[in-house]
Amino acid sequence: MPDVTFPPDPTDEEAGFEINADFEPFPQKNEMFRRSWWDPTIRNLGYEAIPSMNDTATSIPYAIKAGLGEYGRNGLLITKEFGPRVRLGKVYTNLPLAHDRPIHFGVREFCQICKRCAQACPAKALPLGEPTFRVNNISNRKGVRKWSVDAEKCFGFWAAQNTDCAVCIRSCPYNKDYRKWWHRAARWLAGTRLCRLLFALDGWMGYGRRLRPDRWWG
Ligand code: SF4
Ligand code: SF4
Repeated sequence: MPDVTFPPDPTDEEAGFEINADFEPFPQKNEMFRRSWWDPTIRNLGYEAIPSMNDTATSIPYAIKAGLGEYGRNGLLITKEFGPRVRLGKVYTNLPLAHDRPIHFGVREFCQICKRCAQACPAKALPLGEPTFRVNNISNRKGVRKWSVDAEKCFGFWAAQNTDCAVCIRSCPYNKDYRKWWHRAARWLAGTRLCRLLFALDGWMGYGRRLRPDRWWG
């Protein structure tokens, strides 16, 4: 179940890393609330429930299988509702459930032409080429053809900055407020043969650029 929880801390905006014109903060508490709500609810129905985030198993492959979104070049789940701006939690259970199927709304094809996250990444931790089986280091999963993030470069950058980063979220054209109809229309067009035009338009309109902190706070 995705929840919008980003950015986690106002100090990130003060550092100027991940704000853009279209971002609206959502309550981080949602995630813990939902996790703490689902587990006892399932147990009260008489079934087992084991909450997990990226411990036990990484969440993104499950989320893709569950139809919550598609995988992007930035190594993140891109959802239709919140773009890459989600944090995932999951609950293992033996409760019988109807399940959804993977969805496709053109992210993979759009990422082939976009590359904005990889170009913007200050740690050069994201790939510019095609999806491959190549692993960067022990932190990557073997045997999957995909865009693999060099997590050690990424986290090394976080450690050096003494904070997190998320430029790859801020710069992503899917980082939009999809309550607005024009962004929903653009998302649909991005999944068609007009994707190159949409990409050019997105850059021309200035989406994904870093805002000055005084403009964000003002
Ligand atoms: S969080 Fe920052 S350093 Fe890490 S992959 Fe994204 S842009 Fe690069
Ligand atoms: S910034 Fe572009 S290439 Fe990167 S995940 Fe978003 S759409 Fe894909």
